[in-house]
Amino acid sequence: MKILVINCGSSSCKFQLFDMDTGVVLAKGNADRIGIDGKLSYKSSKGADLEKDVELPNHKVAVKLVLSQLTDPETGVISDVSEISAVGHRVLHGGKFYSESVVVNDDVKRVIRECFPLGPLHNPANLTGIEACESVLPAGTPQVAVFDTAFHMTMPPKAYTYALPYEISEKYSIRRYGFHGTSHRYVSKRAAEFLGISTEGLKMVTCHLGNGSSFAAVKDGKCVDTSMGLTPLAGICMGTRTGDIDPAIVPFIMQREGLSPEEIDTLLNKKSGVLGVSGVSSDFRDLAKAASEGNERAQLALDMFSYQGSKIVGSYAAAMGGVDVIVFTAGIGENTDTIRDAIIKPLEFMGAKIDPAKNNGTRCEAVISADDSKVKIVVIPTNEELAIAQETMALI
Ligand code: AMP
Repeated sequence: MKILVINCGSSSCKFQLFDMDTGVVLAKGNADRIGIDGKLSYKSSKGADLEKDVELPNHKVAVKLVLSQLTDPETGVISDVSEISAVGHRVLHGGKFYSESVVVNDDVKRVIRECFPLGPLHNPANLTGIEACESVLPAGTPQVAVFDTAFHMTMPPKAYTYALPYEISEKYSIRRYGFHGTSHRYVSKRAAEFLGISTEGLKMVTCHLGNGSSFAAVKDGKCVDTSMGLTPLAGICMGTRTGDIDPAIVPFIMQREGLSPEEIDTLLNKKSGVLGVSGVSSDFRDLAKAASEGNERAQLALDMFSYQGSKIVGSYAAAMGGVDVIVFTAGIGENTDTIRDAIIKPLEFMGAKIDPAKNNGTRCEAVISADDSKVKIVVIPTNEELAIAQETMALI
């Protein structure tokens, strides 16, 4: 069975075609700069590796191009689009309506549309991608929506309610939703499998540390709290996002700098985080290099990240009454042993202890805790596309 995974952004259409029988990625790429100066990048398991300029006026044309690339007689990997059994779409926001992935129908499309105000950059593009696939794939090809928010829908009201006037929260559906749900679901399940333990009664903290970073407290395999909020701006400081700050800072800066709502949104989302603090980069590799050369602000940004990470993991231990397993994943979580070490060090008081020999240099699935650690600490590489493909296959 072959499953196509589509991740449409406002001007891009990323894709991966999986052979689910072998687990092989047959092809992947991106139809990018839609509505600007279209570019297609494409790699296949047969060795094709190409980049070309293309006309991409809209998402429908982009999806059509992806399908014609996949069926190209020379560089394609399938002979006909009918070989695609289903399409799994990454959808940012399912509001409070979906705690699982769903097969797309008119109701699902209506909900994705209703959630436009909650995901103004992504949800319209996600829906456009779904409609584009519907219009160019053979009638009846199932489409599945896999929501970034779904895994977090099991949080109790005390974790997701903001202390705002209740009527305002109700009126605008303001609450903690959380993101990276597909990744948190995937690595929490995989970590339990890898350790050979049941999720029943298990208390886990999953740390998705990438350019965007979030944490989830997972009890009995279900999310009970997470660090991102109404939007992905909340929680730990990130590549370019502030993470949690005193909300009064927002009007304070707006008034003094004369910024519009759009301008402050850009400042908080794109110019802050470790980039804003260091003035160097949003990339942790650049920060580590600058810090090793004596750049104090780069070191401060790294210290802030680890400090905030430790505090979040510690607070989730309190939320769940303990932690059995801590999972590190995503670009930083999978690759940066120094950050893993710095996050865990202050948690030794609760029995979480890293073994440097296991941690240093580890970039793959592995246990990195010391033999006498009360908490198992593991690295589990995330694979959101594969998770979307697996959820799609399970549903159809
Ligand atoms: P992601 O959003 O998961 O792709 O993660 C992106 C971030 O992970 C980058 O900005 C880097 O800071 C970090 N990262 C990715 N790869 C590596 C690596 N090989 N070594 C250290 N950090 C990495």
